Amino acid sequence: MTQTLRLGRVAGIPVGVHWSVLVIMALLVQGLATTVLPASAPGQPAWAYWSVAAGASVLFLLSLLAHELAHAIVARGFGIRVQRVTLWLLGGVAELTDEAPHPRADLLVAASGPLTSVLAGATFAAGVVATSALGAPAVLTAALIWLALINGVLAVFNLLPGAPLDGGRVLRAILWRVHGDRDRASLAAARAGHGIGLILVIAGLAQVLFTGQLRGLWLALVGWFLVSAATSEQASARYRALLGKVPVREIMNPYPLAGRPEQTVGDFTRTVAARAHHRAFPLRDWYGRPAGVVQLADVARVPADARESTPLSDVATQPDLVPVIEASRPAAEVAPAVARGSLVLVVEDDLLVGVVSEADMVRATELARQS
Ligand SMILES: [Zn+2]
Repeated sequence: MTQTLRLGRVAGIPVGVHWSVLVIMALLVQGLATTVLPASAPGQPAWAYWSVAAGASVLFLLSLLAHELAHAIVARGFGIRVQRVTLWLLGGVAELTDEAPHPRADLLVAASGPLTSVLAGATFAAGVVATSALGAPAVLTAALIWLALINGVLAVFNLLPGAPLDGGRVLRAILWRVHGDRDRASLAAARAGHGIGLILVIAGLAQVLFTGQLRGLWLALVGWFLVSAATSEQASARYRALLGKVPVREIMNPYPLAGRPEQTVGDFTRTVAARAHHRAFPLRDWYGRPAGVVQLADVARVPADARESTPLSDVATQPDLVPVIEASRPAAEVAPAVARGSLVLVVEDDLLVGVVSEADMVRATELARQS
C-alpha cells in the first residue's frame, strides 16, 4: 500500500497510516460533534462537543489498531512473519508474509481481531456504567456509548463469512480442517467474499435509490472493495492450486539485474535501469545478500540535481519490508505477495539468487496448464 505514513513500531511490528485515515478522522469528528453527541446530550457548549468528539475519534483509531495488532501478534506467536500493520479508509490490514502452518493457527489469527473489538466494546461499555455512576457529564457518557457500539459493529461486520474479512478466514480454517485441502478452502472463502461484497453493493445502491439516503453509497463502496479484494484472493488461490509443490527456483528469474545500495541514483539509471524492461529491481549488497527493492517510480522522484549524490538505499524499500523466500519453498507461497504487486526476492544460503514478479508467475501458470 502506497502513500502510507510510518508511525513507528509497536511490539516490533511496523505500524503505518494511509492518508485516507485523515479524511475519515475529519468526517468522524465532524459527525460526532455536530450530530451524534448533540442528539444524545443536548444543551452543551460547542467546544465541549468538538473536544469530546476529537478524543473519541482518537480512541476509535486506537481500538482499530488494537484489532490489527491482535492479528499480527497472534500470527507471530505461530511463527508467521508480519510485514506491517496499516490503518486505512475501511479499517486496517495486518500484512502477513507467510501462510498459516495449520487450520488452528489460521482460525486463531483470524478470530483474534474481532475478539479484540468485542473486548474493546465491552471496556467502553464498562466505562459507560462507571461514568454514569460517578455522575460524569452526559456528553462523555454519550461518546463512550458510541465507542462501545462502533466496536461491536466492527466485530460483527468483520465476522461476515467471506474472505478477505476475518469471518472469511474463519470459514477457510474450518473448511481446511474439514476437507484437509487449503486451496479448496481458500477458493470457497474468496467466493463467499465475492458474494457478500455484491450483496453489500446492491443493498447500498438500493438504499440510495429507494430512501434517498446518501449513506448507502458508503455501504456500496465497502462492498465494492470487498469484491475486488475477493477477486485477487481467488486469483492467488488458483495460483496455489495450479503450481502445487513446484519450487520457487523453477519459476524465478535467475538472472535479475540488480542495483547496489550505495550506488547513486544516476549511476543506477545509466548502468542498470536502462538495460532492462522492468519497473522494480532488487538491490544486492557487497556480500551478495538481498538489500531491498527499488522501484523506477521511486527513482524518478529524485530531483535531477540530487541524482549523483543520492544513494539507492535512500529511495529503496528497506530489506525488512520486502518479501523474501527460500528457493526450495513451494512457488505457491509467493502468490499472495505477488498479487499485492510486490517483487519477491529469492535466496539460497542468505544470498540473492533470483526474483519473482507477476510476469514470472503468469508465465509459470501458463506453462503448468500446458503440461
Ligand atoms: Zn481483522
